[in-house]
Amino acid sequence: MLTKEQLTESKQRLQKRKKELQEQLEDHFGKPYEQNKETTGELSNYDNHPGDHGTELFEQQKDLALNEHAETELEQIDEALQAIDKGTYGVCAVCGKDIPYERLEAVPTALTCVDHAGDTIYESSRPVEEEVISPNINPEIEEEQVEYDAEDAWQEVARYGTSETPSDFYEDKEDYDEMYPNSDEETGGTENPEEFLSSDIEGDYSGVTPNHKKYEEDYDKHR
Ligand SMILES: [Zn+2]
Repeated sequence: MLTKEQLTESKQRLQKRKKELQEQLEDHFGKPYEQNKETTGELSNYDNHPGDHGTELFEQQKDLALNEHAETELEQIDEALQAIDKGTYGVCAVCGKDIPYERLEAVPTALTCVDHAGDTIYESSRPVEEEVISPNINPEIEEEQVEYDAEDAWQEVARYGTSETPSDFYEDKEDYDEMYPNSDEETGGTENPEEFLSSDIEGDYSGVTPNHKKYEEDYDKHR
């Protein structure tokens, strides 16, 4: 539970920051933001070097990004000020536990404890497709994946050679034929020979794939 002094301090801190942000949004290098859209002050782009357009675009994007950031923080400050008025400030909105005052000093807009803060930036900025596909081509999970995924596609072409060297791998690689992830993984067959025998579109035998040599060597070694 926050003391009355702590609550007053928090409120002052929030209001001070709110004022700073509002000034930042209204006062853009001494001019209202809207009037300063053309950072370079050119009336026409007709005779400008293309590089100047790039500079101007960059400046505008930077201003927009900074403004967006300030606006988001303003919203969070307003929410925190509302929480103070409602008497819910300093209590986690998720679990109802007290938020340590040290946290409120560091993050005055915090409405939850650290455990329930979540990584909102991460969650809101990741591409949605990452929910269904793995961002990592070699997911380090224990269970074996049986469906044909990006890793399998890479293995299929990588067995014909890559620019990898032994130093690119954590585990020891004896042969340049093994310079791809999980090169020793058994793929596409229930019996070992099925892994290197290939067939043409008619299903007729058409030769062996490059990993055939390794099989023969292992076979000789273990015989
Ligand atoms: Zn909590």
